[in-house]
Amino acid sequence: MTKSRNHTTLTRLALVTATVAFLAHPAVGDEPKLRLLIIDGQNNHNWRDTTPIMKADLERSGRFTVDVATTPAAKSSPSAWDSFRPDFSRYDVVLSNYNGETWPAPVREALEAYVSKGGGLAIIHAANNAFTDWPEYNLMIGLGWRGPKFGDRVTLDDAGKVVRTPKGEGPGAGHGPPHAFQVAIRDPDHPITKGMPSVWMHARDELYHGQRGPAQHMTILATAFSDKSKGGTGANEPMIWVIPHGKGRVFTTVMGHAMGDDATAMHCIGFKTVMLRGAEWAATGRVTIPIPASFPTADSARRDDAPGK
Ligand code: ZN
Repeated sequence: MTKSRNHTTLTRLALVTATVAFLAHPAVGDEPKLRLLIIDGQNNHNWRDTTPIMKADLERSGRFTVDVATTPAAKSSPSAWDSFRPDFSRYDVVLSNYNGETWPAPVREALEAYVSKGGGLAIIHAANNAFTDWPEYNLMIGLGWRGPKFGDRVTLDDAGKVVRTPKGEGPGAGHGPPHAFQVAIRDPDHPITKGMPSVWMHARDELYHGQRGPAQHMTILATAFSDKSKGGTGANEPMIWVIPHGKGRVFTTVMGHAMGDDATAMHCIGFKTVMLRGAEWAATGRVTIPIPASFPTADSARRDDAPGK
């Protein structure tokens, strides 16, 4: 049902610019807004531009209030790091836009306690590259940007069956050149993906492959076919997944690359919808944010060009 390797479709791709305002209508009635904390400050991607994009989308949904905690710069002094003590307990969900130095122990321990007690964690793109040396984080994210010896690899076959590749076998983390690709929904009943087209075209992005980790208790919600002709693996690579952790919930999407002033992937209405619904689910275990009428179709990526972003 979820064939994601339709090359003809890919070559015919037309990037449709949606003029409909994305999620312009209030999403959620009278429920109190969820408190969300974005963490940034170090990333090999352009976090100074991508945090405001996601913050604007989250606030525009009507579902969230958003604060940002920015870490000290790389190679800062211990005293600078001592000033970074975000109070996770004040938030319903923490969204990581961070890929940098491992946080000091008190911050790591605070995040572990926060998620274990029921907090939500949302991991966006290169945030899963961080913290190779933090075992609890690797459990939370399941798969990270790691070498092939780090842990198992998980893909899905065309029928949707999970295929585990043991550590040391097969490719480690990588991606080919950015390109538009189809996302195949693998769990149409999960609150995050419920109601999405079974296949939809994602705007140009890095298609992560060979992610590695403990990969325990993962529910894979969506995959993308990693085409060898585009530097890929020939397998259906996980794009969106969730993991319970203690009483908390962790949502990961490896989509959302942005480099320089090119944030095409983040302007994809598919990405935005996944990010918003994933963050809401991580916070509450439910999703009320609708799938917009302007959502991508199997053949056409859709980007949001609403003003103010
Ligand atoms: Zn990237």
